[in-house]
Formats: sequence, structure tokens, C-alpha cells
Amino acid sequence: MATTEPNTPLNPKHIAIIGGGWAGLAAAVELSRQPEIKVTLFESARQLGGRARRVPFGKLRVDNGQHLIIGAYKETLSLMEFLGVDLNKKFLRQPLDLNIRNPLKRQTIKLKASRLPAPFHLLLALLVCRGLSLHERLRALQFGARLFMHAFKFKGDISVTELMQRYKQPASLVEKFWEPLCIAIMNTPITQASAHIFLRVLHDSFRNHSHDADLLYARDDLGSLLPDPATLYIEKKGNTIKLGQRVSGFEIKNNKLCGLLIDEQIVSADHVIIATAPHTCHSLISGHTDLHYIEQQLGQYHYQPVCTIYLQYPPDITTGHHMLGTLGGHAQWLFDRAIYNQPGLMAVVISSEGLHMELDNEQLIEQVKKEISLLFPNWPEANDSLIIREKRATFHCTSNINQIRPENKTPLEGLWLAGDYTNTGYPATLEGAVRSGLQCARQIIETIQLETSSEQPAGQ
Ligand SMILES: Cc1cc2nc3c(=O)[nH]c(=O)nc-3n(C[C@H](O)[C@H](O)[C@H](O)COP(=O)(O)OP(=O)(O)OC[C@H]3O[C@@H](n4cnc5c(N)ncnc54)[C@H](O)[C@@H]3O)c2cc1C
Repeated sequence: MATTEPNTPLNPKHIAIIGGGWAGLAAAVELSRQPEIKVTLFESARQLGGRARRVPFGKLRVDNGQHLIIGAYKETLSLMEFLGVDLNKKFLRQPLDLNIRNPLKRQTIKLKASRLPAPFHLLLALLVCRGLSLHERLRALQFGARLFMHAFKFKGDISVTELMQRYKQPASLVEKFWEPLCIAIMNTPITQASAHIFLRVLHDSFRNHSHDADLLYARDDLGSLLPDPATLYIEKKGNTIKLGQRVSGFEIKNNKLCGLLIDEQIVSADHVIIATAPHTCHSLISGHTDLHYIEQQLGQYHYQPVCTIYLQYPPDITTGHHMLGTLGGHAQWLFDRAIYNQPGLMAVVISSEGLHMELDNEQLIEQVKKEISLLFPNWPEANDSLIIREKRATFHCTSNINQIRPENKTPLEGLWLAGDYTNTGYPATLEGAVRSGLQCARQIIETIQLETSSEQPAGQ
């Protein structure tokens, strides 16, 4: 005879989640904490992680793209901690320390935050920033002070370029400092990037506590940070993860969603979360009258690529920095993977659209190698390489995008959305994805609790 765990009710609610990226996993973990809920997560790929996943490179394990986590990613870090990830072991955490070099102009910018309380950690860093003129530092300082006072005033949204012009940031400062920062944060060209979202990230990173601006370099691959520990937790709670299962549609009865379709089979569910990227969500919901408005919103999304080039040099080769910015070529950031116990391996990141997209893989690898040899003329040839192009790495984070970002709850009863593109106020980031998944799960739990209490006869 089947036995039930003491806390498991006889008729638990069944929640199906479509997509095992960081949003779907965060939602699945949060829902798995509730004994009255059963969760099944369907992932079309053979592995979890979505746009933040581990990838093999020879005998090594790397990531589909070098990801950087900052101290302000509160929900992501506390979710990992909840799952038993030892943050001190998995990450090297350091105060913000930016080094950006332009080998053609022989310029280097060094910005290092101290452990002074916010905002003095940032203001002092800007004041003594190396590589900027006194005029540039004073303008940057004014901007920083305004950030602290929350004193940016503009109606609607504008681009980050307009923001910089309105607040009198010199063009030279924008080119060598604000622009690389904007692309790193938003993966969108500065002329199009949303000032609101840029300021939101700066605000969360610099305004409250000095450690919010810390950079966290993972010592292991992305799979070990969330997908692996989340899987252990979800399965320990008796819930299910199904890999290699592509959801193709929904079952709707009496205007309520009651299941989903996989291989023409119906899987019944009380609630369904679509936790896919926006373009897949768009095709899943298309044609449903109740979802027409969201379909229109998602139809307006555009995407930006991220290219990562791994170059293996001999093991004694190092940049001397965990992360090094570079200007004047295609390469933008070099991550020295010695910290991952992969000495000599460099991950070169090129965010956003650009002329590099016109080069084929071989040409781009050669070009990046040339650029690195300008920075480090004494390095020998790299002896192995891997290039990963994520064409739809993030949504195009343009001004006014917040106005078309959908909420978690949809007009179709039982259908919910989660993902980095939903209305979190963040750009497409791990933190945006995790926040959205947790937020969505919490709303479902509240809905179920309300339904259950209204189903109980009065007096119980
Ligand atoms: C190269 C690169 C570098 C990045 N760098 C950073 C960084 O440094 N810092 C940062 O914070 N963020 C970074 N990001 C962004 C971050 O990775 C994403 O914002 C985040 O991973 C999105 O998670 P998600 O769960 O919302 O969506 P996704 O990861 O897209 O997850 C959706 C999942 O749904 C699955 N799926 C799709 N259709 C179906 C279907 N029909 N049935 C079942 N499953 C389906 C997909 O296979 C996928 O696993 C980077 C992204 C990339 C690609």
C-alpha cells in the first residue's frame, strides 16, 4: 500500500514548470518548500541551467558564457545559501576593483572601492581613480553624489547616453568608463540602453552597503552554483525534474488552464509556469485570445548577443587580474580562469552587437588573439580555443522596455510567467531570473492558500 509522508496532504496541488533555467529552478525550489504542492519541471534540453549552464571544453568544464555575480544579487546568493552552497568556498569575493586598458592609447583606468561605508567607498574611489583627469573625476563624483541622493530627474525613460549628456559627463569619460560599464551591466549599446534600469543597478550596487558592489568570482562552473544543488533539493522533496521534454502547448477548460502538452500527451496541472526565454514564451502563448496583450508585448522584444572565446595558454600565463577590461578592439573583458583551477585559460567576453558579428569563428578567434598580444606582447601562442556565440543572450534592454515587461500573473487563470524578461526592474541577469522565479512561486502559494481557505467549511 502506498504511504504518504506525514505532512503531505492527500490531494496536493500540482504545479508544472516549463523551463529549467535559473528562473524555473528558483520557482521549483520555492514551491518545493510547501508540502501541499507537487512540482514537475519540464526542460527541453538534456541539462538544466538554460542561458547559464556548464559546457565541456576538452577535459575542462567551462560555462556557456563567463558570468559575473555582484554583492547586490541578494536573492540569488541567499537561494544558493538556502540550498547549502558554501559561498565562501564557491566564490572569491572582493571589493569592486576595475582595471580597464586601452593598449592603442596606452591608457589604464583603475577604480578600486575601499571598505569605507557607502557612499564613501564609491566617492573616494572616483576621486582617486587612476587614468581619469581631475575634470573627469570631479564630474564622475558629482554623478556618484547624485546617485546617493537619488537626485536624477527625468520624465519617462531616456537612453544612458542622454543621461550622461544631461548630467554633464565629458565624452572622454563616457567613452572610457561609463560605456564599458553600461555594456557590461545591460548588454545593450549605451545609445539605446535604458537609463532607468542602469540607475536601478547602480543604485542597488552602490547606495546601501559597500559590500553590495563586491565582485564575486565563482571558483566552479555555473552548474554547481544553482542547477546541481537545486536538483538535489527538489528531488529530495519528492518532486520531479524531466529533462529532454519539450512542452508544445496547453490544455484549457472553462477558461482555466488545466494542463500542458508534451508529445501530444496531456499532463494535467493546477497551475503552469512558463519559465522560458521571451521568444519561446511568445510562441507558446500565441493564438490564445486571453493572452493576446502579452503576445503583443513579447512580440516587441529584441535580443542582444554575447560571445565568449576561451583561449588556452601555457599554465604559467596570467593577466595578474581576475578580470581585466580592454578598449579599442573587439574584446571587452578578459577573465583569468586560474581562480577556477584552470591556469592559463582566458575567457574573453564580447557583449552586445558589433562588427565582431560579421567575422566567422576562425576570424574572430584570430582577431582576439591579436588584441591580446597588444596587451601582453610577451605571451606565447594560445594552443587551444573554443568560441560560444549566444545570439539571444539577453533581451535588448532599451529605454521604455519596463513598460512592456509582463507581470508573473497572466489573465488566463492558472497560467503564470517567470524569467529574466518579466517585470523585475532588472536587466537580463541571474538576479532578475531568480527574483522573477521566486516572486512567481510566492504568488502561486498565496493563491493556493486563499483557494484552500475558501474551500474549507466555515468554522474549520
Ligand atoms: C553568454 C551570457 C553571459 C551572461 N552573463 C551574465 C552575467 O555576467 N551576469 C548575469 O547576471 N547574467 C548574465 N547573463 C544573463 C543570464 O544568464 C540570464 O539572464 C539568465 O540565465 C536567464 O534565465 P531564465 O531562467 O530567465 O531563462 P533561460 O536561461 O533562457 O531558461 C529557459 C529554459 O527553458 C527551456 N525551454 C525553452 N522552451 C522550452 C519548452 N518548450 N519546453 C521545455 N523547456 C523549454 C530552455 O531550454 C531553458 O533551459 C548572461 C547570459 C549569457 C547567455
